[in-house]
Amino acid sequence: MKASTQAFVLRRVRWSESSLILTMYSLDLGRMSAIAKGALRPKSAFFGALELFSRSEISVSRKSGRELDTLTDASALDHAGNLRTEPLAFAHACLFAEWIMAIITGTEASHPTFHLLATVLERLSEGPPYWPVLCSGVERLLRLAGVGIEVDRCTKCGEDAGRSNRWDPLSGGVVCDVCSSTGRTVPGGFLEFIRKSRQMPIKQVRSLKLWKGGYRQSFEIMREFAEMHTDSRLKFKSLAVVEDIEND
Ligand SMILES: [Zn+2]
Repeated sequence: MKASTQAFVLRRVRWSESSLILTMYSLDLGRMSAIAKGALRPKSAFFGALELFSRSEISVSRKSGRELDTLTDASALDHAGNLRTEPLAFAHACLFAEWIMAIITGTEASHPTFHLLATVLERLSEGPPYWPVLCSGVERLLRLAGVGIEVDRCTKCGEDAGRSNRWDPLSGGVVCDVCSSTGRTVPGGFLEFIRKSRQMPIKQVRSLKLWKGGYRQSFEIMREFAEMHTDSRLKFKSLAVVEDIEND
């Protein structure tokens, strides 16, 4: 079967002298893996079309029962040049790509997820601040994946949780003062950030300010939440890169 769609390259792994194995997220085929034979040869038809985060029109040949497609054609629609010239923007894009690959493990297509990825990459390419865009993107990704964070209704009794910042990630988010048993809380600013960011496009999220280290802390709260709901350990290699650049 042959298929064509738009796709973003999320990961490139060198497979042989001249070939690449790509992990991509596509509009019509969802998450996919494909081998691009000869892609590293300068005269390859793929050359320049398969950089990280470039948006390309691709064609693949797909065999049923095989997880790896064979790339037959690729032409770049957007080279994501701005992302690749600014190290901190690039590192945040890598981090979001890691989130996508960790959370989206199935192969069903999701147009909203594709468009979210496109938006996050575009906003990151426009310059700092990067953390609000990343955190808002992750929060939206979790909702699209069916593991949204509940910040308004008590996840135990379903009543309005009011201003409670009591927290139970296992039950799905915030817990009202009555139902709380563990006494665990999250910063109220984290819940407020999520409420606000849901009401606005990602472009505007950049104006939301948190306390010092707040975005980093929010990232950790969402990571722990996602770990519980995906039953997996989430390790993000790019996080150390982001922090190295920030601390330079
Ligand atoms: Zn309750």
